[in-house]
Amino acid sequence: MLSQFPIHSPEEEINHPVFSKKAVQVFIKRDDKIHPFISGNKWRKLKYSLQEAKNLNKNLLVTFGGAWSNHLLATAAAAAQFGFQSQGIVRGESVDNPVLAMCRLFGMKLQFIDRSSYREKESYFNNHFDSSTAYFIDEGGRSNLGVLGCKEIIPELQQEYAHIITAAGTGTTAAGLLQGIDEANLASRLHVIPVLKNGGFIKDDIEKFEVSTKNMDLHLDYHFSGYGKSNPELIHFIKDFVASTGIMIEPVYTGKAMYGLVDLIKKDYFKPGSRILFLHTGGLTGLLGQLNLF
Ligand SMILES: *Cc1c(COP(=O)(O)O)cnc(C)c1O
Repeated sequence: MLSQFPIHSPEEEINHPVFSKKAVQVFIKRDDKIHPFISGNKWRKLKYSLQEAKNLNKNLLVTFGGAWSNHLLATAAAAAQFGFQSQGIVRGESVDNPVLAMCRLFGMKLQFIDRSSYREKESYFNNHFDSSTAYFIDEGGRSNLGVLGCKEIIPELQQEYAHIITAAGTGTTAAGLLQGIDEANLASRLHVIPVLKNGGFIKDDIEKFEVSTKNMDLHLDYHFSGYGKSNPELIHFIKDFVASTGIMIEPVYTGKAMYGLVDLIKKDYFKPGSRILFLHTGGLTGLLGQLNLF
């Protein structure tokens, strides 16, 4: 099944006046090129869960997310491609938007539940679905199998980097990268930019996957007031970056992480001569909710 889905995610050097001024080399791993809808780290996180669901002969994928969730859309698209039915449980009151419309287009059934039921996802799943046919996938694709999929980013790399930088929501991607770095015995440090306010909890969440955080630095100051929030400075930065590199980023995840990277470089955080990799985690459909800012 998975062989029908070859990974295309090149590493490309990016030029930016700040990078040359500070004498650092920055490359970007284009996981956004993996698939337009099963994008970036969402494919990495889903891959082994889908395989497991197939092996267990489940025909329905049930997953959870907010109304603009890249994960819901990725699951809907992957389900359609690999012959599953899909059901998305959406947090909060019934709404409609382009992401949910595309989920429906891929055949996903949507159901809205109140926030307190949403918090008890597993019991909601157990009470409402037949687990002989339905397969539970946690919000954001958070799982040990998700970590396993993200770990595979590291052996794909064409060269060694002193620093690797990624955005984080659940920390699943960061956990996989750390495990990959550890297993390959690389000297790379992982820099994680949580997009949520007070993102320090990510360290505990990563350690719950039994992954060591010794090679990790958390940068907590680039959340721009919280998940889905932004300000004119971030929007200006994104416009400038996209127009001068041709690489699309968005304000929810990759824009904040790239802002953080450029800011750290400006502040001489990295030694001159450092080779740095930015992981483009995809998720560009998130832009559909933010286009009015541009
Ligand atoms: C979901 C998502 C993330 C967060 O990944 P985690 O593994 O939950 O930390 C980062 N970037 C993009 C573009 C995403 O869609």
